Amino acid sequence: MIDRNSRTILSVQGLRASINGTEILKGIDLTVKSGEIHAIMGLNGSGKSTFAKVLAGHSAYEITGGSVQFEGNNLLELPPEERARAGLFLAFQYPIEIPGVANTQFLRLAYNTVQTKRGKEELDPLEFDDFVREKMKLLEMNPDFLDRSVNEGFSGGEKKRNEILQMALLEPTLSILDETDSGLDIDALKTVANGVNQIANKNNATILVTHYQRLLDYIVPDYVHVMQAGRIVMTGGKELALELETRGYDWVNTGKSITGAIA
Ligand code: ADP
Ligand code: MG
Repeated sequence: MIDRNSRTILSVQGLRASINGTEILKGIDLTVKSGEIHAIMGLNGSGKSTFAKVLAGHSAYEITGGSVQFEGNNLLELPPEERARAGLFLAFQYPIEIPGVANTQFLRLAYNTVQTKRGKEELDPLEFDDFVREKMKLLEMNPDFLDRSVNEGFSGGEKKRNEILQMALLEPTLSILDETDSGLDIDALKTVANGVNQIANKNNATILVTHYQRLLDYIVPDYVHVMQAGRIVMTGGKELALELETRGYDWVNTGKSITGAIA
C-alpha cells in the first residue's frame, strides 16, 4: 500500500565496507521509508550482519565508499551512541551479558539517555518501574526479568525477548533485528514477532535480517531483499521469502523469479 505521507528514513547508496583489508560490503543500495518492514535474507557469510553492524557504527569496519543518510543526516559521521540517540536500534545476533548490573537499571539508563536527547523528562526508578511493567505486559513478558543481571543466565529466547523490550522502551525510528529468530522455540518466536508487530507503526521502520522464512510467517514484510557477496542482488515482496524457502538460493543468480522479484 502506498502511503503518500511516508518519508524516507534510511537511504543507503553504494555502501562499501572492509574489515582487516577485506572488502565485505560491495556496493549496497537500500531505501527504507516510514511504515515499512524490510527483510534482508541470504546465505551465511553474505554480509547481512556486517551491514547491520556498519549501520550501527561498529568500529571494526572501514567504510570505503558510498553514503548513508538517516532521517536526512549523514549517519556515517555519527559515533555509535549518537546513532542510537538519533533513533537507530540494533538488536544483535548475540546479545551481550552484563553480570552485576540489574536489568531494570540498565533499561532505565538507556531509556533516560534517549529521553534527554529528545528533550523529554527522565523517569525516576519508581516511575520507570510502572512504565516498564506496562510495556512488559504488552509484550507478555515475565517481570522477573527486571531484577536479574542483564542477559546473565538468560536462555536464548529470554535474551531476544529482552532485546525486544529494549526496543519497545526506546521507541526507535529504525529497528534492525539481526537473526532475532535464530535459536528460538515457537513460543519465544511468537512473543518476539508480537513485540515487533506492536512496535511497528507508520512513523517508524524495521529491517529484519533473517536466514529463515519462519519469522516472516509472523511478521509480514513489505519488501524482501536477497543479499549475496556483499550486495543486494534481488528485491521482491513477501512472496520472495516463500520462494526462497522452497527453491533455495541457487536460482537467484539466474535472475528468474517466479513471484516477480526483481534482480
Ligand atoms: P552473514 O551475517 O550474512 O552470515 P557476515 O556479515 O557475518 O555474514 O559475514 C560476511 C563475510 O565477512 C563472511 O565471509 C565472513 O567470513 C567475513 N568476515 C566477518 N568478520 C570478519 C573478520 N573479522 N575478518 C575477515 N572477514 C570477516
Ligand atoms: Mg549474520
